[in-house]
Amino acid sequence: MKEFPKSADAVVVGGGVMGASTAYHLAKMGMTNVVLLEKEDTLGAMSTGQCAGGIRHQFSSATNVKLSIESIRMLSKFTEEPGHEIDLRFTGYLFLMTDEEDIPGQRAAVALQNELGVDTEWLAREDLAGLIPQVNIDGVLAGSFNERDGLCDPNSVVHGYAGGARALGATITTGVEVTGFELSGESVNKVRTTAGDIATDTVVLATGAWTPDLGRMLGVDIPIKPVRRQIVVTTATPGLQSGFPFVLFLKEALYFHPEGPGVLTGKSNPDEPPGFNLDVDPEWEMVHLSEAMERLPLLEDAGVLSHWAGLYEITPDAHPIFGPVPQVTGVHVMAGFSGHGFMHGPICGLLMAEEILKGAPQTVDVSEFAYERFLSGDLHPELNVI
Ligand SMILES: Cc1cc2nc3c(=O)[nH]c(=O)nc-3n(C[C@H](O)[C@H](O)[C@H](O)COP(=O)(O)OP(=O)(O)OC[C@H]3O[C@@H](n4cnc5c(N)ncnc54)[C@H](O)[C@@H]3O)c2cc1C
Repeated sequence: MKEFPKSADAVVVGGGVMGASTAYHLAKMGMTNVVLLEKEDTLGAMSTGQCAGGIRHQFSSATNVKLSIESIRMLSKFTEEPGHEIDLRFTGYLFLMTDEEDIPGQRAAVALQNELGVDTEWLAREDLAGLIPQVNIDGVLAGSFNERDGLCDPNSVVHGYAGGARALGATITTGVEVTGFELSGESVNKVRTTAGDIATDTVVLATGAWTPDLGRMLGVDIPIKPVRRQIVVTTATPGLQSGFPFVLFLKEALYFHPEGPGVLTGKSNPDEPPGFNLDVDPEWEMVHLSEAMERLPLLEDAGVLSHWAGLYEITPDAHPIFGPVPQVTGVHVMAGFSGHGFMHGPICGLLMAEEILKGAPQTVDVSEFAYERFLSGDLHPELNVI
């Protein structure tokens, strides 16, 4: 067994999609003395492994659309680099709108996506009826569809990047928790862990919903709230048409997509208080499933195969925090992806490696996600949050 490292050029905390992608891209760009630390016994055990696996271009902010373009391009070539099968399926994503108030914002979002070269179509109500006959579209006013949106397997993405990073010389460690930091003046110089200390001048906090805890260890206030979100996977639904897309009712925050022989469905509870509770709330599951059955009636003949809860990592404007923190030199944050971070993991890991090795992200300008926006109060929320 490899000895626990005493020093590293960079320590990446968190073994979800963000941490794994960052470790891989740092190693690929030549920084091989990288250590990734994950507190759970397996990588991708938290939000990443608990997510719905959706990948989409359909966002209201230009930066998110650009991140999706780059990430989906990287996921399309994942079998070549880092070289792993990820069960990528371009099922398409169908957004459905039932509230008149959502229409102008969604029309503008589709226009923005088109301007950025993304072929999302705006669909009038009459266009929808024949498209998905199995879905009850009562009250639906319009929709939008992108055939290059879809799904892939989150655990495979994490393991693809972690395996690639290891092969390039990075150290990937599970079952090790970061418990503190040591500073020299205003710069980080040591990471304290349950397995020993690591001397380093570069730390990446890819710690999802737990990032405020790490922030407290550094004296930095990080505005991310953990919010429970639930998923149900059903037993087989034989009547589901082939090519059934990822269907998402925007106002209702209800979604479903094919999963194996059944369906995966989720619905966000708008009254869910922040917290780390990961038990499934049976009452909310009843609300969720009765609405899902109303919208996709063939679910009435299906049973619950499995269900779980995971955490969204929500910021005040539903945008991530990306970049160095102004209070402690050497500490970079990439967290708070507010329920849509899995799909941005590939590009964000590359951007973080560019930030560390080249001084700033280069492939996409993500300066609007800097921590400093909370100090100035200049917030522009993302609308397409489910
Ligand atoms: C139900 C649900 C459905 C979702 N659906 C989608 C979807 O369809 N598409 C999409 O793009 N996104 C989706 N998301 C959001 C997505 O899962 C997250 O945005 C993304 O996985 C965040 O990745 P991460 O690496 O930042 O966080 P995580 O995967 O949570 O990784 C952070 C890791 O840091 C570790 N950690 C924390 N503290 C410490 C410490 N002190 N020491 C060591 N390790 C530590 C944690 O154990 C964890 O493994 C969904 C989320 C949920 C909950």
